[in-house]
Amino acid sequence: MTTSGVRVRIAPSPTGEPHVGTAYIALFNYLFAKKHGGEFILRIEDTDATRSTPEFETKVLDALKWCGLKWSEGPDIGGPYGPYRQSDRKDIYRPYVEKIVDAGHGFRCFCTPERLEKMREAQRAAGLPPKYDGHCLNLSAEEVTTRVAAGEPHVVRMKIPTEGSCKFHDGVYGDVEIPWDAVDMQVLLKADGMPTYHMANVVDDHLMKITHVARGEEWLASVPKHILIYRYLGLEPPVFMHLSLMRNADKSKLSKRKNPTSISYYTALGYIPEALMNFLGLFFMQIAEGDELLDMDELAAKFDPENLSKAGAIFDIQKLDWLNGRWIREKLSEEEFQQRVLTWAMENSRLQEGLKLSQSRITKLGELPDLAGFLFKSDLNLDASAFAKIKSTPEELLEILNTVQPDLEKILEWNVETIEAELRAIADRMGKKLKVIVAPLFVAMSGSSRSLPLFDSMAILGRSVVRQRLKLAAQTVATLVGPKN
Ligand code: GLU
Repeated sequence: MTTSGVRVRIAPSPTGEPHVGTAYIALFNYLFAKKHGGEFILRIEDTDATRSTPEFETKVLDALKWCGLKWSEGPDIGGPYGPYRQSDRKDIYRPYVEKIVDAGHGFRCFCTPERLEKMREAQRAAGLPPKYDGHCLNLSAEEVTTRVAAGEPHVVRMKIPTEGSCKFHDGVYGDVEIPWDAVDMQVLLKADGMPTYHMANVVDDHLMKITHVARGEEWLASVPKHILIYRYLGLEPPVFMHLSLMRNADKSKLSKRKNPTSISYYTALGYIPEALMNFLGLFFMQIAEGDELLDMDELAAKFDPENLSKAGAIFDIQKLDWLNGRWIREKLSEEEFQQRVLTWAMENSRLQEGLKLSQSRITKLGELPDLAGFLFKSDLNLDASAFAKIKSTPEELLEILNTVQPDLEKILEWNVETIEAELRAIADRMGKKLKVIVAPLFVAMSGSSRSLPLFDSMAILGRSVVRQRLKLAAQTVATLVGPKN
């Protein structure tokens, strides 16, 4: 039970592989709740119906559970303020939007996507930031009524003050001031009747009695919109805390194009959740050298949101490796270690599926490591010579690898059938035979041209490991491509 009234949440959008950044923000909220004797809740923000999938939602929940984060309310367990999935709350938002419109703080906008695109184009050409130009701001009440009655598609936008700035206090950034001029007349309700993230987020934080909103710094610029929505609805905003994003050592944004960012990648490679949480938790405190090895209770005890790591949140994979190694060697008992290895091998039925595929291909059990070991390896140590037996030129191989990688990102449900269908479609588009496409993929996935069936192997490896192996393969093949002249 809450003793302090503190209620925080993690509100992931199930639009992709669960990101380590989500675990980082979730951990902050979890430790914050733990420290204050409050509640940590999970809400699924799936207002973007075209990008949200049930597969990703399950994965986000599984990944956060794997991290050892436990929520007391959520879509899987319910709670007093449910439902906890925004697509199941569609009817809840409309009265709030109507209230804003009726009070004259919002307006209906009939601009077509084509008009908006033209407007943005003109703004781009003039070197201006894209922003709604207020075309429908002053339509007469009669015109609006007629057009709505005629069934003309429209959205609802919020009005923004024309002068001054929004001043607010952020728990991390301190006092912030953003001129209203820099704030767009945000769409609150989309043409299909679904609210946008901003509208749903504010209404839900209010209805779910969220006291503190801790999230990534990419949302800082949205705070004026949120504060305005709270104001228009006559509600008190929560306390905001915007955490600096995790970055690569070179300060660039963590992105899957550069480094693996999905939690499932780190799970598949055999990082253990305690080490990952330990690694992320260290960003939320000042800690002396030598005192870094901390479990969840110790992290909660030392958690200090006023004193976030001065170095910023650098995703230093060597430090994660170091912590992971120490956790395995120093913290796990012999039995725990064995248990971890077995659980890891069987995650997503990797071992079972791998054995199923191997059975018809071996004469002795001892051949298994050579045949199926690639399903478990953290590093294939791929050598360019592995590609030598393939007939295509290095240039062709590189083109195939570089085409396949982004195209596979389009797959919404990752399984044998969808992978096969996408690879066949890629072969068609490239005007190549399927076997020409799959040859380098065999090597990229397994390090060898003799291995288990490709589509099944890719399904077992999972999209984040496949992505990384394709990238490493492309880098390896690139060393065979001569300099352009
Ligand atoms: N759905 C948003 C995200 O995935 C949540 C932002 C927030 O916490 O308000 O980043």
